[in-house]
Amino acid sequence: MGGFGIFNVGHRHPKVMSAVRAQLERQALHSQDLLDPLRAMLAKTLALLTPGDLKYSFFSNSGTESVEAALKLARTYDPKKPTIVVATKGFHGKSFGSLSASGKSTFRVPFGAMLPGFKHVPFNDILALVDILASCKMTGEDVGAVLLEPVQGEGGVNVPSDEYLPAVRRLCDEFGALLIFDEVQTGLGRTGKMFACEHWNVAPDILCLAKALGGGVMPIGATVATEAVFSKLFANPFLHTTTFGGNPLACAAALATIDVVIEERLSERAASMGTYMLDGLRRAVRGHGDVVLDVRGKGLLMALEFSDDETGFTIAKHMFDRGVLVAGTLINARTVRVEPPLTIERAQADKVFAILGEALDTFASDRIKKSA
Ligand code: PLP
Repeated sequence: MGGFGIFNVGHRHPKVMSAVRAQLERQALHSQDLLDPLRAMLAKTLALLTPGDLKYSFFSNSGTESVEAALKLARTYDPKKPTIVVATKGFHGKSFGSLSASGKSTFRVPFGAMLPGFKHVPFNDILALVDILASCKMTGEDVGAVLLEPVQGEGGVNVPSDEYLPAVRRLCDEFGALLIFDEVQTGLGRTGKMFACEHWNVAPDILCLAKALGGGVMPIGATVATEAVFSKLFANPFLHTTTFGGNPLACAAALATIDVVIEERLSERAASMGTYMLDGLRRAVRGHGDVVLDVRGKGLLMALEFSDDETGFTIAKHMFDRGVLVAGTLINARTVRVEPPLTIERAQADKVFAILGEALDTFASDRIKKSA
């Protein structure tokens, strides 16, 4: 587990480090009123890199901010359609808008009323989406946007069926709703494509990025949208701003990171190492079917599903004791994520399989001792 998915290019990649160092010598932070070439270069690069007609970027400092900007863009696009459909088990961050869009009660209940206008439907259930879109239309609460992670990360690494996202795109077009993809965790090569939505050839109207975009060196978030969506801010771009967003250090890091992901073919590497690791993990858990219920993933975003929370926690602890860090998801430790840097080598992956096997054997023998 590399920093909850921020180390796609590894730790302290020399190209990212030297771009940030060089920029620090020139100028660290910027004057918002002045044009900054790095911000423009990054926006242009993202326009070229992202799928479909995505063209303009708003820069911020984190994943939750990139989602907040997406929600506000959707609301300004058509203020008469304030309803936003989201998925249960979705996770979009912990500020009020993104939390209201997220699907986990533990993080919501302590804060009382959430923002109005969000409707949750099960992920990967196209009939549930049809139902909500149709019933909102009937009640006059027209849906302005559908917000989804193409592969749910914190919800337990849930990979949709091949039909789901293309059908979501068609429904959004039919009902006049924008499609927002939150690729804060899946973007920048993680799942085996530069953006996970490219597995299904589906382009959103708004794309949220953060985490790995800063190369594990600088924090940065980006909300990339089509011209039609962004044009609502043209008259007054100050409607949505953030002081540090798109600062020169963060933009230098993001530009260098994108270079590295392309030059080192890290998306392709995530695809092939993902297949290698899923096979290896599946081999490692053989014979422990009562404890490990599923091993799944896309590229190098993988998960082990255990029989219960405590078992997952114990295995993760045994692995940590042997030098391998894995992480629970926001559901709990029943689903444990395996999400290494995309630079992971086969020998390192082999070590993970061996240590997982040892951890499972230790767990099994402890259980026998306890019951004796
Ligand atoms: N969206 C997704 C899909 C995430 O996985 C996360 C964080 O895990 C976020 C948004 C929130 O990002 P941040 O913690 O940078 O605010």
